Amino acid sequence: MTHTRNTPASRKESLAPDIGSLPARAVRAWTERMAVTPLGEGRYAVETHHDARYVVDLPRSRCSCPDHRLRGERCKHRRRVAIEVTRGRIPAPGLRAADCLACGRETFVPENTRLPLCEYCTYRPGERVRDRETGDYLVVAGTVDRRADEVGIESLDTTVATHPTNRAYDPGEPVVEVTYPGSDRHYSFPRSRLVRRPLDGRDGGSTATV
Ligand SMILES: [Zn+2]
Ligand SMILES: [Zn+2]
Repeated sequence: MTHTRNTPASRKESLAPDIGSLPARAVRAWTERMAVTPLGEGRYAVETHHDARYVVDLPRSRCSCPDHRLRGERCKHRRRVAIEVTRGRIPAPGLRAADCLACGRETFVPENTRLPLCEYCTYRPGERVRDRETGDYLVVAGTVDRRADEVGIESLDTTVATHPTNRAYDPGEPVVEVTYPGSDRHYSFPRSRLVRRPLDGRDGGSTATV
C-alpha cells in the first residue's frame, strides 16, 4: 500500500486582512505608520505617526496610552505589537534579536542566550556531523551556551580552546557536545570544527562550514 500525502486544497480567500470587516482599532493597527522597538521582558516601545511614544507590555496585556489606561480598550498599539511579532518582524516576549555567531544573519534567540546561533547553524541532538580534523563521524548531543575557552576538558588540564587540536578555532565559539556512534561518552568541540556535509577528502576539510 502506498501512502500518498493528501494536501488539502486551500480555500479561495485573500490572505491579507479584509480591512472592511475589522474593528476600527484593528484597521489603525494595520495601516498607521508606527515603529516598534523591543525593550526586553515582553515590553515594547511604540512610536506613533503623531510622534507619541507608548509602552506596551504584551504578557500583562497593558499599554501606557490613554485608550487603554482610561477606557481599558485593546488599543491599536497592543494590536500592532502582536501583528509584528506574528509576522516575525520583532522578537516575541522572552526572545531577543541577535546576529548569529556562525553566519551573521539576524535571528531571534531566548533572552538569556549568551552565544546566539540561528536555527540553521544550530546542530540538533542526534544529528550526524563530521570532525574536520580527523574525518570521524560523530553524533551531536547538544550545543552548550559557553565559549570554547570557558569549557574545561575532563582529565586534561586544558580548555576546549587550548587543546592542541583546537588552536586554529576561535576561542569565543560555542561548544558542541558530541558522542562517537555506539558510545555514551561526551566530547566537547568548537562548533566550526564540526561540519554537516561529508568531506570529499580532496579538500582536506577546508570547505566552508555552512
Ligand atoms: Zn495603546
Ligand atoms: Zn547562522
